[in-house]
Amino acid sequence: MTRSITILGATGSVGASTLDLVRRNPDDWRVEALTAHSNVSDLAALAKEFGAKQAVIADEARYGELKDALAGSNVEAAAGRAALCEAAARPADIVMAAIVGCAGLAPVMAAIEQGRTVALANKEALVSAGEVMTAAVEKHGATLLPVDSEHNAIFQCLQGGRLDEVRTITLTASGGPLRLVEDLDAVTPEQAIAHPNWDMGAKISVDSATMFNKGLELIEAHHLFPVGLDKIRIVVHPQSVIHSMVEYRDGSTLAQLGPSDMRVPIASCLAYPARMDTPMDPLDLAAIGELSFFQPDETRFPATRLARQAAEAGGAAPATLNAANEVAVAAFLAGKIKFSRIALTVDEVLNAGNLPPAPQSLDDVLVIDEAARKLATAHMETA
Ligand code: NAD
Ligand code: MG
Repeated sequence: MTRSITILGATGSVGASTLDLVRRNPDDWRVEALTAHSNVSDLAALAKEFGAKQAVIADEARYGELKDALAGSNVEAAAGRAALCEAAARPADIVMAAIVGCAGLAPVMAAIEQGRTVALANKEALVSAGEVMTAAVEKHGATLLPVDSEHNAIFQCLQGGRLDEVRTITLTASGGPLRLVEDLDAVTPEQAIAHPNWDMGAKISVDSATMFNKGLELIEAHHLFPVGLDKIRIVVHPQSVIHSMVEYRDGSTLAQLGPSDMRVPIASCLAYPARMDTPMDPLDLAAIGELSFFQPDETRFPATRLARQAAEAGGAAPATLNAANEVAVAAFLAGKIKFSRIALTVDEVLNAGNLPPAPQSLDDVLVIDEAARKLATAHMETA
């Protein structure tokens, strides 16, 4: 049976992996809407290739350009932040949330409010909104399917037992490209982006290098799998073969293994609860040879400690941590601050005191996000 899909962030790395699977299975999928930030030519080309009903560019100034690029096709053009939310709310069997950053939050909430099945890659949205999002999922009968490879692994391992029988959840971390680099102050954006195992967007690549990616994933796991923060652990596993593990009360640990290719967890979401083909080679453990595991070094990489602190504090803290990190990563990528200032900026903003009260609504989350961005920018300017 043909199913419909909307992809928020269609021109990105996760968007491309999702469309690759759709392209390989043209009879199974119909594309409803595709969105992008500012890349009109890629968006228009994809919308035409896949026969999307609608293409939305977030940058309103490019509406004319998008209309021109789609002239003569049957694809409807739209632009702006409100149009992104309208695209997310359109009827679709599955909405792939693959925008990067808190910019994806309002569209994700719009899909949730329609009770949709949302494949969630956009971890910053869940980290920032936390209970505001999980409460909306509950209220509107929506479904969140985790795309992030670790959370998808945990989701699969949880088919083997009940949440109240879980003893621990272990998130694996590759440790990023800088695990063994001595002078973190001298790291360039190029070095930070060069991930050893995964090919990803720039922001998440820097997050992997700082370990904020694992920090955000800790908070993400805390909301997706409410077993208690004290039961969620992190282990560094440089080969990225085991994507995460669940240990049960009887001492059994279930793990999910696979190649470092996002098409595997994406396929698991697209086909859920069934399975679909992907073009992956069979797992060859003898060729891989060894799997190794290390304790994270939170002195050199404080991100996971800061994220645990924010998760324990709850309320406005996770959105504040996320926003400060987004602003600091952008400044690092623009060559404005050193690598080690990313974590320092987050630490300063998170611990500046006077955090706003816990958000009760999407608007509250966006206000907290904006305030933390301003504070982080001010901290970086005076540093
Ligand atoms: P990317 O930078 O490659 O793509 C981001 C997409 O979002 C693009 O289509 C871009 O046009 C759009 N976008 C960016 N800013 C926007 C804005 N302000 N408004 C509207 N649209 C905007 O990022 P990615 O690597 O594909 O990551 C997407 C999300 O998935 C992130 O939250 C990331 O943490 C998560 N994720 C990615 C991977 C991966 O392998 N790339 C793995 C796990 C989780
Ligand atoms: Mg991940």
